[in-house]
Amino acid sequence: METISRLTKDPVGFMRGVENVRRNPEVHDHCHIELNDGRTIERLSNGLYGAANDYLGRVWFFRDVTENKQTEAALQDLAWHDPLTGIMNRSHFFDRADEELMRAARYQRPLAILMLDLDHFKQINDSYGHAAGDQVLLSVCERWRNSLRSVDLLARLGGEEFVVLMPETGVEGATVAAERLRMTVAEPAVSLNGKEIRCTVSIGVSIMHDEDHSIDDALHRADNALYRAKGDGRNRVESMP
Ligand code: GH3
Ligand code: MG
Ligand code: MG
Repeated sequence: METISRLTKDPVGFMRGVENVRRNPEVHDHCHIELNDGRTIERLSNGLYGAANDYLGRVWFFRDVTENKQTEAALQDLAWHDPLTGIMNRSHFFDRADEELMRAARYQRPLAILMLDLDHFKQINDSYGHAAGDQVLLSVCERWRNSLRSVDLLARLGGEEFVVLMPETGVEGATVAAERLRMTVAEPAVSLNGKEIRCTVSIGVSIMHDEDHSIDDALHRADNALYRAKGDGRNRVESMP
């Protein structure tokens, strides 16, 4: 057991699995064992029977699948995240948002949604170049990540448009959080190659209603609030509860 504890991440689960196949010779065993050194080992085993169907023992097959696991994780990462900023992409956001929506509805908990759109971003690209624009997007997301709670979902909807879903948050809390997100973009300016690039964001805030069928309903209200923030001069937060 001492060796098992040293080698595997889950020695108790490992021993339980071994005990299970020992007691049940007919079991077709297939599992993945995570080792403490980071490797993953696949284990397959089957009972071996003689001509008279007499149990002879068990055949074990072990294979190092660490690389397959890593490739799988990397592929999943690519499928779920935006390549530039590393935050969640649009399609993964909608999957996660549906889960949050169901949870909030089931337990009657508040859920807030923020739509964020960087102001005059075309001008930033025009003045400093597209590569600098990319760096600004990266830097803004980094600031937002540091400002949000771990339960909040931040995603890039596309271009310079983002969304944040805030569980357990009503309109007042979400407006305070949105104001904080707005301020972290405005100050300080992004320093790049000796230049100070100023950027601002407009934010629309809304919350889920009992009668909402999907996240799209709240997203639509947040988008309307965002439209108002743009119309009222940008670099501001508007809400439409
Ligand atoms: P507004 O305040 O009304 O939102 O003005 P805006 O210029 O931000 O809006 P508009 O929709 O006219 O332009 C969005 C700009 O964002 C144009 C596009 O080139 C730029 N953009 C979108 N995605 C990226 C990106 O991945 N990298 C860079 N550098 N720019 C991007
Ligand atoms: Mg836009
Ligand atoms: Mg914009």
